[in-house]
Amino acid sequence: MALVLIEDHPRLRASLCRGLNEAGFEVEGLATGQEALARLSRRDVDAAVLDLGLPDVDGMEVLSRSRAAGLLAPVLVLTARDAVEARVEALDRGADDYLVKPFAFSELLARIRALLRRAAAPRWAPLAFGDVSVSADPRVVRAAEHDVPLTPSEHRLLGFLLRRRGDTATRADILREVFGYDFDPGTNLVEVHLAHLRRKLGATAVRIETVRGAGYRLSLPEGASRDP
Ligand code: CA
Repeated sequence: MALVLIEDHPRLRASLCRGLNEAGFEVEGLATGQEALARLSRRDVDAAVLDLGLPDVDGMEVLSRSRAAGLLAPVLVLTARDAVEARVEALDRGADDYLVKPFAFSELLARIRALLRRAAAPRWAPLAFGDVSVSADPRVVRAAEHDVPLTPSEHRLLGFLLRRRGDTATRADILREVFGYDFDPGTNLVEVHLAHLRRKLGATAVRIETVRGAGYRLSLPEGASRDP
């Protein structure tokens, strides 16, 4: 597994690289945004851990430019910024998860393993429900006859809900099947991604309903056909 770790603080970078190595990962440590952009533009990255506060190109910028250039590998963002807005912005720009500094190394490890598990999840055939459909490639949702781009996490989440065909999925199901967590990471990943998807499906007949105390499910107006 080829991990890329972008962290400008030399001691932290060295200790994280050493720990990840000891945990069995092949890890490459980088110190600047420029190096990160160059490295992430190559195809042989399994996952990236990206510090947001970098001396040259900001981590947010590295993230959006790499996603725009076609990076599909999962990205975990490290941030000292405890503001909710910064975390939401990182997810919005295509991060798969985030960890707020300072963190325990064991937690970083658990999250990286979760990222890699979900990246290894099987690909699936095109799926449709009402006037919404998604395909594995390109990562767009066909929504009310328009193509709307999705981040990799949104794509997995929508695919998961479409496969349920209107059955309720619990938050724990979503954390496990979409995000690879067999524990509650204590973050608002599920809620943030659902909010984005609701917005992107706004022009369609499909709704993501909250089933109080149970979870989430797709629904269509009375009488609408589930099959396109
Ligand atoms: Ca930093």
